[in-house]
Amino acid sequence: MNGDYDADVVVVGYGPTGVVAALTLAGEGATTIAFEREQDVYQRARAMTVNDWTVRIFQALGIDRRVAPTLEPQRASRWLTYDRTEIHRVEHPPSVMGGPSRFYNIYQPALEKELRACAAERPEIDVRFGYEVTDLEQDDEGVTIRAADLASGRATTVRSRYVVAADGGSSRTRSVIGASLLGDTLDVTWVVIDCRVKRWWPDRDILTFWSDQERPVVDVALSAGNHRWEIPLRPDESPADYPTSVEVWRLLHAIGVSEDDVEIHQHAFYRHHTRTADTWRAGRVFLAGDAAHLMPPWAGAGMQSGVRDAYDLGWKMGRVLTGSLAPEWLDTYEAERRPNVAYYTDLAVHLGRIIKQELSPVEQAELMRRADRDPAGELATPRLAAGWFRGSFARTSLVGRMVPQPMVTDTLGRRLLLDDFLGNGFVLLGADVDPLEVLSPAEREGWDRLGARYVRVSPTAAYASGPDACVDTDRMLLPWLEGSSARVVAVRPDRFVAATDLEGLTVPQFPVPAAREGQHGPEGTVSEGAATPR
Ligand SMILES: Cc1cc2nc3c(=O)[nH]c(=O)nc-3n(C[C@H](O)[C@H](O)[C@H](O)COP(=O)(O)OP(=O)(O)OC[C@H]3O[C@@H](n4cnc5c(N)ncnc54)[C@H](O)[C@@H]3O)c2cc1C
Repeated sequence: MNGDYDADVVVVGYGPTGVVAALTLAGEGATTIAFEREQDVYQRARAMTVNDWTVRIFQALGIDRRVAPTLEPQRASRWLTYDRTEIHRVEHPPSVMGGPSRFYNIYQPALEKELRACAAERPEIDVRFGYEVTDLEQDDEGVTIRAADLASGRATTVRSRYVVAADGGSSRTRSVIGASLLGDTLDVTWVVIDCRVKRWWPDRDILTFWSDQERPVVDVALSAGNHRWEIPLRPDESPADYPTSVEVWRLLHAIGVSEDDVEIHQHAFYRHHTRTADTWRAGRVFLAGDAAHLMPPWAGAGMQSGVRDAYDLGWKMGRVLTGSLAPEWLDTYEAERRPNVAYYTDLAVHLGRIIKQELSPVEQAELMRRADRDPAGELATPRLAAGWFRGSFARTSLVGRMVPQPMVTDTLGRRLLLDDFLGNGFVLLGADVDPLEVLSPAEREGWDRLGARYVRVSPTAAYASGPDACVDTDRMLLPWLEGSSARVVAVRPDRFVAATDLEGLTVPQFPVPAAREGQHGPEGTVSEGAATPR
């Protein structure tokens, strides 16, 4: 009990978003009570991929090695018609974010199980399984949360400073705070068929979208010996036509899959939503993950967006709770995350149009042209397009861009990943220069107040000494900085560049400007990144 509070934060719902919120807050020293109405992880395998941004978040939480066995590198994605004409293909370039791969196949229940196991080791996190949150009320000082123990029917009340509502697509908390879920739900019902693999078949490790107007099919290897097909039902079909795996086999036989390849493990029916809550915050209560937004699965970004919400909100809220960041930081959560989620939602809708063969010949040609050009580029990393940043989000600017993560060598000769060298605070990085030589006294005062560290990145061809210098032994960081002509970049704890010397190193001010219309995500527009979801 902290003063009059039972915990700093109450997390409603303990799916991937809720667990990552609790883990991030615990990393900042904040205590959490999480309420989850189910006893076990949801067994339907929903998410099928994650990328290196999400894995870098796991690294920041110190759980990347624990989670690694649940991730399997994904080789490539392709869009084929049934006559095996390849419409589009993305060979995944190597990751520049510190891990072995850019994209990974997962099996969501296995990933969630491991996330929960990691969280169970944190004394700051108290999870109450079998409890349903029924209501909450807030005042100037905190939030009072009411929950029911579903086994006994007994009611319980707890009080916290903040609430993170990660209670999924049908979030009750969303209604309690008066937020509305705006957008559409498509009419088409998809059957998602999860199978256990019995033998290898050609190119099983390529994520394949069988593109067809009537019966497009998603064909993807999940981790740990699982495989998934997602198939839309025709207008004259309904879930009642597929009550058991006997009927579902008809769909797999029709696309050439046989009992020699797999056994069906489970199947479920989904409709695709493109919906976002009109506000993600009411006072001390914040919506995150599916509670805040729902998108079609084509960009593989629904769960990942929830994980990113949770991490973004968690590191800011944790530091606001300890007083090391001003409360205005909490306003940057929705300002930063909403445009990024909009980017992935638009990307998912666009990719869905390819699968359903809805692109015009001109759009199709444009897609191929962009793929040829490799829009992601060798050193491209995720980008935010609004929030606590100084400067423009122009394509050539590093502002809003995540720093790549090579291995570096400290000046005592030890090799380690950049993030492990930098620690978890604000850092100013100088390209072969001590950042303190570039900052004015006023600029320095602002970064000092945030507890920033000043690090010189040295080339391998120079002497370097002291704890605040590292050597760019992978030869990745200096070319990345010098490519934009920046001498010094200010990096936030989440590794996004907040400011550069090119556009001024004064600490960004509040209130943060909102994203402009069409200013979405990784490359500033929706279409630029479409061939390579990031
Ligand atoms: C077919 C399909 C494929 C997908 N593929 C991908 C993919 O490849 N990549 C990707 O990133 N995402 C994918 N997704 C999306 C992903 O599965 C979801 O975005 C993700 O599970 C959302 O996580 P969450 O924690 O926000 O919500 P949920 O996982 O829904 O968790 C919410 C939790 O809150 C609990 N809860 C609800 N109300 C209460 C209450 N009142 N009190 C206490 N507990 C409560 C629920 O029991 C639940 O455990 C896919 C989804 C589907 C359906």
